[in-house]
Amino acid sequence: MNYDVIVVGGGPVGCAVARDIAKAGYRVLVLEEHQEIGAPVQCAGLISKRALKISRVPSTVVLNQLNGMVVYGPWKSNLELEGRKVYALAIDRLAFDCSLAEQAKEAGAEIRCGRRAVKFAYVPEGILVEAKNRAGESIFFSGRLLIGADGHNSVVAHWLGIPRPQEKVSLYAAEVWWPEQNGRLAHIFLDRDLAPGWFGWIFPAGHNRARVGIGRSPLVAEGREASRRLLFNQLKDKYPLLFREMKVLQNTSGTIPIGFLRQTYAAHVMLIGDAAAHLKPVSGGGLYFGLRAGELCADTAIRALQAQNFTPDFLKIYQKKWEAAMGQEISCGLKLRELFLKMKNEEIEFLLGFFNKPLWRKLILKYGDLDYHSRLAARLATALPWARLPVRLAGRYSIKQETSDRLPGLSVRLSGEDSGNMVNVLQPDR
Ligand SMILES: Cc1cc2nc3c(=O)[nH]c(=O)nc-3n(C[C@H](O)[C@H](O)[C@H](O)COP(=O)(O)OP(=O)(O)OC[C@H]3O[C@@H](n4cnc5c(N)ncnc54)[C@H](O)[C@@H]3O)c2cc1C
Repeated sequence: MNYDVIVVGGGPVGCAVARDIAKAGYRVLVLEEHQEIGAPVQCAGLISKRALKISRVPSTVVLNQLNGMVVYGPWKSNLELEGRKVYALAIDRLAFDCSLAEQAKEAGAEIRCGRRAVKFAYVPEGILVEAKNRAGESIFFSGRLLIGADGHNSVVAHWLGIPRPQEKVSLYAAEVWWPEQNGRLAHIFLDRDLAPGWFGWIFPAGHNRARVGIGRSPLVAEGREASRRLLFNQLKDKYPLLFREMKVLQNTSGTIPIGFLRQTYAAHVMLIGDAAAHLKPVSGGGLYFGLRAGELCADTAIRALQAQNFTPDFLKIYQKKWEAAMGQEISCGLKLRELFLKMKNEEIEFLLGFFNKPLWRKLILKYGDLDYHSRLAARLATALPWARLPVRLAGRYSIKQETSDRLPGLSVRLSGEDSGNMVNVLQPDR
């Protein structure tokens, strides 16, 4: 075998896992299809302090700190939430990715850019990977372990026939010039016609810049035919004052995979990051969960290499570990998302109006957490505005509050007409 571990994908999660395994003294190769690490950037670059900490990337990548947000309802309701603490950091995503790649190299990992993994085969004691360079020439590498960190369209997952996430949200995003608006508040736009099944955003990134974008879900019929760019233009037209002086510097598109993968391992293989749908279903943020799963994947890989055991039975420890660390949060996010996908504009408008009171704003600011949405959801569910929803949701969702003997903290259950509409909101472990 040429390598102990081959990581397909030199994104942030692939580089972080390569760093951790190489640090333990193993021979690690990262294959990245692009010519450069981190480019093109397909991210709004908003992360928590917690995510920055576990990445071990220096804080010089932080461009702005956000203290809250304004949520714009479809019609008149706005919910302005401004606190004292820092809820989110706007980072330089290119510098973030490059720093992780540097860390991986310093730990001894080899990173080969411009190498696209195209085929895989089991060979005695490991896996053979065929990669192509830009000229289309094939190069072969072999390793005992293969880690698929190759994003939402993972070739490793396709090769193994692992079922893919149920939902793939399409996004339009851009880095823009945004003078005079260097605020510390994110702007979130909710409107089922404008951003069907998702939301629009402006995240001020400091230095007269911002990240903007909009998404739509294939699970919502409204706007399915409209292009993402058209939706973004409609968003600009709806809020002319906010977008007045904005100039697009660089635009991109992207995909957010949403779901819960029950199997992210096979003999000699593990999947991580977007390839394993390690994202928050409510916001689409994937850096924190990806990096967290990366730590657990590296730990399992090192144990497997020590034990020379790469069987599915051994590698399933990884699945168990990441499910214990974040499975509950992903499940809760999926249930909240299910609710959101069913909401009509009048229901969104009603909820924003309901929570736009000093007491609720205070509660949201206190429990709001970029990574653990269930913390806030648990508190808001106890507010029972749901029972007063005037339209479709009323009667369809009732809320029961329960305390759990099994787990510490509050457990809230939003129960719908069938058991498929249950949400268990539990206090997370971190
Ligand atoms: C528009 C947009 C905005 C976002 N905003 C945020 C945000 O604000 N905060 C946040 O936390 N998350 C955000 N995300 C999600 C976040 O970008 C991802 O969760 C994160 O990049 C996942 O990292 P990863 O390393 O798993 O995958 P990726 O970053 O997708 O990296 C995968 C890498 O694998 C490479 N690759 C793919 N196939 C192959 C192959 N066959 N051979 C070799 N290499 C291959 C790719 O080139 C890529 O470099 C956003 C996503 C999008 C699309």
